[in-house]
Amino acid sequence: MQRILITGGAGFLGSHLCDRLIGDGHDVLCADNFFTGSKRNVAHLLNHPYFELMRHDVTFPLYVEVDRIFNLACPASPIHYQHDPVQTTKTSVHGAINMLGLAKRLDARILQASTSEVYGDPEVHPQQEGYWGRVNPIGLRSCYDEGKRCAETLFFDYHRQHGLDIKVVRIFNTYGPRMHPNDGRVVSNFIVQALRGEDITIYGDGSQTRSFCYVDDLVEVIVRMMETERGFTGPVNIGNPGEFTMLELAEKVLGLVGGTSRLVFQPLPSDDPKQRQPDITLAREKLGWEPKVALEDGLKETIGYFRKLLAEGQA
Ligand code: NAD
Ligand code: UDP
Repeated sequence: MQRILITGGAGFLGSHLCDRLIGDGHDVLCADNFFTGSKRNVAHLLNHPYFELMRHDVTFPLYVEVDRIFNLACPASPIHYQHDPVQTTKTSVHGAINMLGLAKRLDARILQASTSEVYGDPEVHPQQEGYWGRVNPIGLRSCYDEGKRCAETLFFDYHRQHGLDIKVVRIFNTYGPRMHPNDGRVVSNFIVQALRGEDITIYGDGSQTRSFCYVDDLVEVIVRMMETERGFTGPVNIGNPGEFTMLELAEKVLGLVGGTSRLVFQPLPSDDPKQRQPDITLAREKLGWEPKVALEDGLKETIGYFRKLLAEGQA
């Protein structure tokens, strides 16, 4: 049994990771300030003897005793991370410094949930880990993109300077149950709009692409990455290489939900990447991992979750 800290553990990905690690028999401490996460996501774990929930903001130091740290704290949807951009940068940068400091004191292994956004609006396609990216340093997305890039820098400097045992994964768009119904990300938006019979909002002409990974596949690879040998730091791209335009996604969602929603076109947000697809050769080779869940199957699960949420009046 390991003592594991998950920051951002009450969020979408974090709560699934809590489930997995509790299921594997570990002692899990979930620290979250509930900015975008909620107690509801982990409510079913609250009575478990090896689960502990703590309200904590990672921009402040944390003194606990653990063997492993998964650093997931950071709002991930553009609407939320742009709501208070200064806090977003602080969460990534001060949060990384605080969690790395904790890892250093404890000689604990620490994993950073980085992002495909470190590649910005990429000219290289698909994106490999060696690509340095094309990121606007002063735009609306920069608080997130540059915050995450700086966090990676800090992880690698703590590794080089202090010998810290780090792991860095670059997560590509991931979806599934427990996404926030109003967080503005495309999968939750389209599904909730289709279920409510509202217009489906396509930003731009819908030709931009993303590659969508189902949450179960993602949790599996994060756990594998954490248990690789000391010295293997990554960064490793993790995501599903299946690439779709937003128009294709809208049509798939509409086809699965049914209903009468129309597609409407709205302005493209600034700096919105035109294409995104992970090259997962490294994850395949080093982690023996490959996503298993097809988009259609994952969408069905996610639609079922949101249908229930709407029926219960919680969205
Ligand atoms: P989420 O918004 O559901 O989860 C983030 C969690 O962090 C929330 O519970 C939130 O309350 C918490 N949080 C935010 N600021 C905090 C702070 N200062 N202190 C403590 N807790 C704080 O988003 P998610 O999709 O679960 O993303 C989790 C992590 O994975 C994030 O770091 C995100 O950048 C990264 N990521 C996610 C995706 C994706 O597609 N889901 C893609 C790339 C990277
Ligand atoms: N998008 C869209 N309609 C929506 C929400 C998002 O067309 O209602 C587009 C958005 O412009 C982007 C893509 O979907 O091109 C993915 O957006 P999301 O916010 O989910 O993730 P990110 O842009 O961070 O990859």
